[in-house]
Amino acid sequence: MLVIYGERTGRMQTAEQDEHWMREALSLAALGAAVGEVPVGAIVVCDGQIVGRGYNSPIGRTDPCAHAEILALREAARTLDNYRLVDCDLYVTLEPCPMCAGALVHSRIRKLIFGAAEPKAGAIISRDCFLGRDNLNHQVEMVSGILADECSTMLSAFFRRRRERKKVERKARLQPLVVESPQ
Ligand SMILES: [Zn+2]
Repeated sequence: MLVIYGERTGRMQTAEQDEHWMREALSLAALGAAVGEVPVGAIVVCDGQIVGRGYNSPIGRTDPCAHAEILALREAARTLDNYRLVDCDLYVTLEPCPMCAGALVHSRIRKLIFGAAEPKAGAIISRDCFLGRDNLNHQVEMVSGILADECSTMLSAFFRRRRERKKVERKARLQPLVVESPQ
């Protein structure tokens, strides 16, 4: 989709805008899936531009903190040369975990927009309402459910493929070894 910002064309409607950026995050998630990582993608948008990108890669980076959101926040801070991401919005395909929810507050993200909910570990609406705590020194706005079906389908397809692969591997291990007897 061609995105044009300007006075003549007017700004995209918010929902359309959110879906556009979520598709960018989804394409990053697909990159993660291609290298065997759980597919979650994130981008940071500032003033209509992507300033940070990341996909979940703790295995590839040997880094337990290498979640999509953290990588996108770090890149955005480098791009903007500011550790505070004022007026920046973060789009992520899956509801953030507690670590990433904390990082959103530390980085002063203006708005979090996420796709699928994470019923087991999501810290925003599922297991906790982290961003609504009254002891935080920064309030992050939140929008959920943008392209939720596409975001969760990508995850469930990944886990299904992984289960099938493990089943095949297990079956291969159980095959009796055929040793030819010497003549
Ligand atoms: Zn996380």
